[in-house]
Amino acid sequence: MNDFYNSVMSHEKFYSLMYSPYLSKYSPLEEQIVEVKTSDICWAKDGSSFIWIWGYPGPDYNEYTPQTYGKGWAFTKEEIIQSWAMDAQQTAFCPECREYTEYVTVDPVHREITVYGITFTYVHQSAHCVKCGAEVYVPSINDANEEARGTAYRKAEQGVTSECQI
Ligand SMILES: [Zn+2]
Repeated sequence: MNDFYNSVMSHEKFYSLMYSPYLSKYSPLEEQIVEVKTSDICWAKDGSSFIWIWGYPGPDYNEYTPQTYGKGWAFTKEEIIQSWAMDAQQTAFCPECREYTEYVTVDPVHREITVYGITFTYVHQSAHCVKCGAEVYVPSINDANEEARGTAYRKAEQGVTSECQI
């Protein structure tokens, strides 16, 4: 396939956040890191991403790309922990407090939207001010949402997510 495919498949397993690439605020980071066998993953036809189906009462699945390596998944647990540590205590401008405040991300939600007549769902992530709870703008989260929307739209348009049954 390609380098991404080869590098992942040269490992027997990797580590992933339970809701990769998203961190739940309801439990500590280390409790959210799970081990995934590469024999259990399923690749997109073009080798640009893969999914891992899991979950109870699911099934649910996570999608993995080179862009989410580090915080979302990695070949060692330490890499994930390190990536989040470097990212700790981020701040954003809160429109309600009118100052830079710390923010937290909340559990992502599946949002259904219709674009050019095609209805699809994508995983929407948001960040909120720790002082007042207002949603704040964080470029990286906004980018992730746009990418998630774009990927979901393209897949819905093609009518194929992957060879896996979800
Ligand atoms: Zn605020």
